[in-house]
Amino acid sequence: MFDSLTQRFSASLSSLRSRGKISPSDIDNTCQEIRTALLEADVALSVVNQFIEEIRTKSLEALPTLQSGSNQAQAIFDIINAALVEILGAQARRVRFAKQPPTIIMLAGLQGAGKTTLAGKLAKYFADQGNTPLLVASDLARPNAVTQLQVVGESIGIPVFAPEPGNGIGNAVKVAKDGVAFAKSKLHNMVIVDTAGRLGVDESLMKEAISIRDAINPNEILFVVDAMIGQDAVRTAQAFLEGVGFDGVVLTKMDGDARGGAALSIAQMTQRPIMFVSTGEKLTDFDIFYPERMASRILGMGDVATLAEQAKKAFDPATSAKLESKFASGEDFTFDDFLEQLSAMSKMGSMSKMLSMLPGAGQMKKQIENFDEAEIYRTKAIVQSMTPAERHDPKLLNGSRRARIAGGSGRTVTEVNSLVDRFTQAQKMMKQMRNGKMPQGLPPAMYQGGGMPTSTRAKLPASKKKSKSGNPAKRALEEQS
Ligand code: GDP
Repeated sequence: MFDSLTQRFSASLSSLRSRGKISPSDIDNTCQEIRTALLEADVALSVVNQFIEEIRTKSLEALPTLQSGSNQAQAIFDIINAALVEILGAQARRVRFAKQPPTIIMLAGLQGAGKTTLAGKLAKYFADQGNTPLLVASDLARPNAVTQLQVVGESIGIPVFAPEPGNGIGNAVKVAKDGVAFAKSKLHNMVIVDTAGRLGVDESLMKEAISIRDAINPNEILFVVDAMIGQDAVRTAQAFLEGVGFDGVVLTKMDGDARGGAALSIAQMTQRPIMFVSTGEKLTDFDIFYPERMASRILGMGDVATLAEQAKKAFDPATSAKLESKFASGEDFTFDDFLEQLSAMSKMGSMSKMLSMLPGAGQMKKQIENFDEAEIYRTKAIVQSMTPAERHDPKLLNGSRRARIAGGSGRTVTEVNSLVDRFTQAQKMMKQMRNGKMPQGLPPAMYQGGGMPTSTRAKLPASKKKSKSGNPAKRALEEQS
């Protein structure tokens, strides 16, 4: 969601880097560019002013102490990074657990902010860490909110306390109170209370939230807000802060194309930390918020830390160890190994989301947006249509076998050929690496459209298969068709 901001930051910083020596007026220009970029990203004016003042003062102080332009540019980059981390809330904060369980988490926010969805995400996240959450359906106002929570709870195997049907019927304060009592009696160590929102901040909304708060005395009140609403998010946050009060913020719909203003303003304006972010409708589209990782993304350095964590979760250690020892002992990488990797990759979630965490992803925006997520499944279908012997020894794959695989997987023979070619190249490269040689060229994307721009793929070593076209770019296109 920070695409345009990232591009603006990258452009300003690379123009600074290109100077032999940086002058105070260069700093003024950079500050002016960043100021415009932040305002266009819908960041609150007071936050922008404070931010610019800080980087201007610190950069001007640093300039005379450094000799070369590149050292100066690096120092300014570090100053901007630190200032960004600061306005994003400086440090990540975890949920505070109650000394006497259950830990009570109350969700507050406007209708449609994503509270019910988030309740499920939080419950799953904490259950995965060994907790035993109970979901409490206290949103009795929004049509279907109770049923929605029940469906979510069922899908993740988390019990839902829902004594009232909702849709305007029932007493939300009583449900919340009884829910906490129920959790205590059943020894749940955590209770997540979903509450009602309204379309805008109003008195009855605030009154109900306050009554629920006073009845259950939560350990954490999390204010849930849609990041897409920009400056309005900050205004709503301030109204909730003065009304019911809250301890932390959850930004939802961070997958949207909002300009990022809410994320960059809210921690500073409310003096409450952003604790989680929601990045999609699926229950796995959810992350802990780390200010330094977000700053890194905004400055175009990607978020390699999150990517590595997700990979660690998806690739089970036994499979990775097996692959490593195969590799070391000189055994060939087979289609079965490849299938395991594809399955792990699908577990990591959307490929375009993963690619967007890479440094420099801003420059690959088009390719990332055009990434065809279904390609992994199509590739899997081709491999799954091979016999165990064929998966082990791709040399067996003659013309008639390839035609059978194409038929079995619903793909074309060209697609099967292309995958086998790419796989064979990758196998060769792995052999070269094992023998201590640098592989020739980049590793091929083993499924079509595998994240590598067509222009790069066109430069890959020519495949064994006789191509129809002598032009590498055309050939790459042919392979894709
Ligand atoms: P509530 O009224 O606050 O309980 O909001 P809901 O949980 O019902 O969410 C409102 C809508 O936003 C639903 O259609 C959700 O699927 C959707 N939604 C929630 N979180 C996200 C998110 O992070 N990204 C996207 N794209 N949609 C979301």
